[in-house]
Amino acid sequence: RIVAAQSASPNEESVERALRPRAFHEYIGQQRVREQLEIFIAAARNRSEALDHVLLFGPPGLGKTTLAHIIANEMGVQMRQTSGPVLERAGDLAALLTNLEKNDVLFIDEIHRLSPVVEEILYPALEDFQIDILIGEGPSARSVKIDLQPFTLVGATTRAGMLTNPLRDRFGIVSRLEFYSAEDLMHIVARSAHLLNAGLTEEGAIEIAKRARGTPRIANRLLRRVRDYAEVKSDGRIDASIAAAALAMLEVDPQGLDLMDRKLLEAIIHKFDGGPVGVDSLAAAIGEERDTIEDVIEPYLIQQGYLQRTSRGRIATQTTWRHLGLTPPSAADS
Ligand code: ADP
Repeated sequence: RIVAAQSASPNEESVERALRPRAFHEYIGQQRVREQLEIFIAAARNRSEALDHVLLFGPPGLGKTTLAHIIANEMGVQMRQTSGPVLERAGDLAALLTNLEKNDVLFIDEIHRLSPVVEEILYPALEDFQIDILIGEGPSARSVKIDLQPFTLVGATTRAGMLTNPLRDRFGIVSRLEFYSAEDLMHIVARSAHLLNAGLTEEGAIEIAKRARGTPRIANRLLRRVRDYAEVKSDGRIDASIAAAALAMLEVDPQGLDLMDRKLLEAIIHKFDGGPVGVDSLAAAIGEERDTIEDVIEPYLIQQGYLQRTSRGRIATQTTWRHLGLTPPSAADS
């Protein structure tokens, strides 16, 4: 899926690393989040303290991992990276925590997927920079307190609502990342084209930016595919018409919706009379995981007004009917 927001292959991950902004001045958009973090980081640096724990939330591909790296760079410390599902045992986390140096950043992606036992270890670590570990087994087992260096946890999640309350309460800074404007994405694509040595006109950049689902990861991915197309079909230069032709070939429509988006919207209209339909029925109808629908596909469709999430389920809006070339029911009634 070309507009899937997760990074797909190891190859793509290495390109992503190369394109990743390293400092705030290279990080485009997300003005509000950036300004807040810049102030808190400057203050923490002045006091030579660790930055307060930061929770970043928002759909995949919006720049959470990038921000975690930037926080560490701007603090002048090391960053260690892991993710919720990888930390299976309490000992895995304890090993990471005891290896942190003063004011380091620990980045935990998908932090909503931490197991309860691992989360238990994290609470005192976040609050008092201490962990309790159990040594030995049976009646001779005893609990030992270990002091940690002060550190900053940067947690990332697609949905803040999936965190347990005690965990959420331990973050002093909570930042929500928003979808990017077409203008911001245009700058991101232009920057990436420059780094990749691709010839991209301003109109070409606009064309890609408009169709990137508000998401830098998708913008960069589209840029690379469009560049392939331009190299094979013409002289390599990406202008508006080459970009439009390449994106049409990739089945990304002029509003930036891809096959999966259209499949979901069509299912709501054709199989469920426009909704409301529950997410589980929808998942079964289109053969997608419920989580993928909720984390990856839906947020952009909702933000763009194609979909409404109500207590009774998902409803296709009039915009959706029109987008698919159909007459909305209420318009037909009148
Ligand atoms: P997330 O962790 O939210 O899934 P990432 O931080 O991995 O997203 O970002 C995906 C890619 O998008 C990165 O490789 C980076 O190059 C690019 N990117 C994200 N945010 C920005 C930004 N604000 N400016 C420029 N590029 C960005």
